Amino acid sequence: MELLQNYIDGGWRASNERQAIDVINPATQQCMARVPYGGGTVEDVDAAVAAAARAAAAWAEVPVMQRVQPLYRLKALLEEHLEELAETITNECGKTRAESVGELQRAIENVETACAAPLLMQSEFSENITRGIDEFVIRQPVGVCACIAPFNFPGMIPFWFLPYAIACGNTFLIKPSEKVPLTMQKVMGLIDRIGLPAGVVSLVHGGKETVDALLEHPGIKAISFVGSTQIARYIYAKAAQHGKRVQAQGGAKNPVVVLPDADLETTSRIIADSVYGCAGQRCLAASNIVLVGDQRGQIKDALYEAAKSRKTGYGLTEGVEMGPVITKESKTRIEHLIEQGTQEGATVLLDGRGAAIEGFEQGNFIQPTILTDVPLDGQLIRTEIFGPVMSLINLATVEEAVAFINRNAYGNMACLFTGSGASARKFRSEANAGNIGINIGVAAPMAQFPFSGWNDSFFGDLHGQGRHAIEFFTQTKVVIERWPKEWSRKF
Ligand code: NAD
Repeated sequence: MELLQNYIDGGWRASNERQAIDVINPATQQCMARVPYGGGTVEDVDAAVAAAARAAAAWAEVPVMQRVQPLYRLKALLEEHLEELAETITNECGKTRAESVGELQRAIENVETACAAPLLMQSEFSENITRGIDEFVIRQPVGVCACIAPFNFPGMIPFWFLPYAIACGNTFLIKPSEKVPLTMQKVMGLIDRIGLPAGVVSLVHGGKETVDALLEHPGIKAISFVGSTQIARYIYAKAAQHGKRVQAQGGAKNPVVVLPDADLETTSRIIADSVYGCAGQRCLAASNIVLVGDQRGQIKDALYEAAKSRKTGYGLTEGVEMGPVITKESKTRIEHLIEQGTQEGATVLLDGRGAAIEGFEQGNFIQPTILTDVPLDGQLIRTEIFGPVMSLINLATVEEAVAFINRNAYGNMACLFTGSGASARKFRSEANAGNIGINIGVAAPMAQFPFSGWNDSFFGDLHGQGRHAIEFFTQTKVVIERWPKEWSRKF
């Protein structure tokens, strides 16, 4: 079985760690590779940071127009290898081929947007801000930066940061999730071919020890993290304690509100896609569906039909619409949460537990599940399930719905389905969430916009993607200049 290597200083290097864990295909339980995991990876981090630090000064000196040229080559290579990368994502992460292709397209869009760095890095200049004095801002790279990624979008999330970081003149380390290290391993094989100087981008595998080494390393100046809230909080505090700038995206519990004037067919289809897409393992997956004024249960019935007809199976099988969840532990946890919901008083309208998929009996499958009458004062309504479970809640007014949303500790996404502009306007203004969808089920910002998030879903200030990423990966230097005529030689 292949033991994954790190990519450090422009080449593949064996890890200093002898221990490794299996990378498991969640549909088949087949072991696909082994990934180094343990305290020996601390030395790997040291080697990667040393190489990144050696490369940093010269890379920062390269004019930005030249720094983006390798990104154009990376875009072309990602497109050329799209199908093969998508298969890797499906095999290690479980999602369907279409979902894998979709996430890679989002990655490519970030590469394209980062190619605008020559323009985005331009800055402010004020002539004669006071008599005889000019003042302006220079954007300079931060230095060595690192990202720590989650399992659920192995091909996309590092791209919220990587292309912007290097376009801005930084050097960059990636620590993928140990559950899904193969996609970035393949991507690094492509990055190896785009003509970057050694040390500009590195890949280091591992788990907690590796992350702690990154957080504590004095050579690293900035940390970008995406994962669960508990770990995001830890990363934010520890990275700050070690003097780094940090952006830490956390978990979610996303509400979607449906008003009676929403189009029944489209709304139920989009919501089912949001709840069950990627088997509910999206940080923007709809989870609490708030039905306003659905006395006759029309929306509930439409959602039931949309959920029931969803085909679950191995993500590379033609026609499959939903894959497995990531691990056996995850499946057990989700099934326990469904049970907890019933103990709190919820009713199971559609039960996806105990799913057996022919030919994939060992897979971590859960079929679409719907809970109704979920109590508002219970735990389940607040807990991130991260699985294919829809909780239905009935409320009387849009005001009640907004109040419900704003009691949520998270704030990643809130969506509204309606035909009313006035309701939409009120909702987008008053709902406390970083990403708002109006008649949209997964309000995922495109690369030109920050991937936002509020409250317990985000710790920091500047987000990934677009202009926020350019700001995060540059430090501003303000220059105040005076050139008195009498000091200058006249020519
Ligand atoms: P996770 O927090 O378990 O792991 C994320 C990363 O942190 C991994 O690389 C892992 O190796 C590392 N890590 C895990 N435990 C650690 C510890 N104790 N100390 C230091 N590092 C540790 O998250 P996950 O299960 O991989 O991903 C799913 C979570 O990510 C969900 O909560 C989801 O909502 C969230 N997520 C959020 C966003 C967003 O934009 N807000 C996007 C994607 C995923």
